[in-house]
Amino acid sequence: MNENIERCLIAENEIKRRIDVLANEILEEMKEKEFMVIFLLKGALVFAADLCRRLPVALEIESLNVSSYKGGMESSGVIEFLDTRFPDVKGRSVLLIDDILDTGRTLHTVSNKLNEMGVSQLRRCVLLSKDKKRDVDVGVEHVAFTIGDEFVVGYGLDYKGKYRNLPYVGILKKDSI
Ligand code: 5GP
Ligand code: MG
Repeated sequence: MNENIERCLIAENEIKRRIDVLANEILEEMKEKEFMVIFLLKGALVFAADLCRRLPVALEIESLNVSSYKGGMESSGVIEFLDTRFPDVKGRSVLLIDDILDTGRTLHTVSNKLNEMGVSQLRRCVLLSKDKKRDVDVGVEHVAFTIGDEFVVGYGLDYKGKYRNLPYVGILKKDSI
């Protein structure tokens, strides 16, 4: 796996240290002490697992399966909800976690849906935010790292379904694409 990586962008220990700081920020901000975490599958799985274990409150953890990328390198622009049931969020304080903010469409669509369903407080958190112009504006309260506009894998993020288990964030070699 590592032989397909051109370079490491964010090292494992750097992620770990940043998550400790981020967890404290989130704890200070969430009004309800017993909030619900909703993470987006599959990309946010690794980040959410590490972040949630740094939040020493009685969390409820839910996931939503949404698709936008279809496994390649370009977002399809259309966000589909793939679950048949939706978590009961009415009146709840929710922390929405995703892997990366790119065009903004995913977080925008999911945020709208959660607001329609009557969440009482919504905060968003992403591991990575690409420094670029978004297709849609979306406010994200907690960003672990801002990166350039390049395609990354690892720590949950995939290329054609692979590399999610890479413990750091990296850039693929050209000949691995
Ligand atoms: P958005 O809807 O903001 O365009 O994109 C969000 C989704 O696109 C993320 O949840 C992620 O699945 C995918 N994505 C965006 N940029 C990247 C990237 O650089 N690498 C990978 N592996 N996925 C990305
Ligand atoms: Mg994703």
